Amino acid sequence: MKWFLATLLMLWSGAVMAATPIKVMILDGASAAAYHDWKLTTQVMKRELEETDLFVVTVVSAPPAEGDFSGFHPDFAKYQVVVSNYDSQDWPAALKAQFEAYMKNGGGLVVVHGADNAFPDWPAFNEMTGLGGWRKRDAPAGPKWYYQNGKLTSDTAPGLAGLHGKRRPFRLTARAPDHPIMRGLPAEWMHAADELYTRLRGPGKNMTVLATAYADPANRGTGFDEPMLMALSWEKGRIFHTTMGHDAAALSCVGFVTTFQRGTEWAATGRVTQKIPKSFPTADTVSFRPDIAAMDPAVADGVLTTLPK
Ligand code: ZN
Repeated sequence: MKWFLATLLMLWSGAVMAATPIKVMILDGASAAAYHDWKLTTQVMKRELEETDLFVVTVVSAPPAEGDFSGFHPDFAKYQVVVSNYDSQDWPAALKAQFEAYMKNGGGLVVVHGADNAFPDWPAFNEMTGLGGWRKRDAPAGPKWYYQNGKLTSDTAPGLAGLHGKRRPFRLTARAPDHPIMRGLPAEWMHAADELYTRLRGPGKNMTVLATAYADPANRGTGFDEPMLMALSWEKGRIFHTTMGHDAAALSCVGFVTTFQRGTEWAATGRVTQKIPKSFPTADTVSFRPDIAAMDPAVADGVLTTLPK
């Protein structure tokens, strides 16, 4: 019996080792918005990726925004995907060129929440993300994009990009159910209390909106269905963009965890091999991971599921 178990264990560990893990860089080091605790959210993202056993994650922290970038040249090519938890105003031209070369050669990029506020004046980055908010983005950044009457609409009317109401749970609607990231997800699901980004502007080129959320005017919303999850291509590169994930509590939503894990795999490989967890939220019920929410003691669990009166 003992040898049988030992053999079984060897076979099992052999199977696990056989698949080469996907190399991920989480890029952080700055947030122009002081309320984004990037050190904590990086740890949450690292944990969410590594628990799948599909990824090995290296955290690369850029110098602070006003710091010395002369020695900062991360070897992007070593990674299949870069997860950006980074929000800075600008980079030196050589560093931007290095990142563009990585993406041109088929790199992967995942953009989470405030990372889409970054680099308002870097055209290639704004093409990669499709949409961005804040940092004085207005009409020259591109039109606003949202769903109206079930169709993706671009709106060139001027106005500052980026706004959100109070954090509260909101319902997502799948818009591209056949995309690899979305296959098997329900048509609608509840996201745990988070900021619902609206009025995002950008080129919106080569962009597939995967899911939207209705921005209720009662909570400073636009009355439109706003893009929440997007898949894009830029040259040979693939990009997954989620506007959700304000803090560790928001990142604890099982819907966030699942789409983040799947979106990162897709950006790295163009495929998704992961199953949907049984605890995935439904159209009416929030589902979050208490172990992850507990990493953010400032936010009580109740906030994640309760609609304000
Ligand atoms: Zn935020």
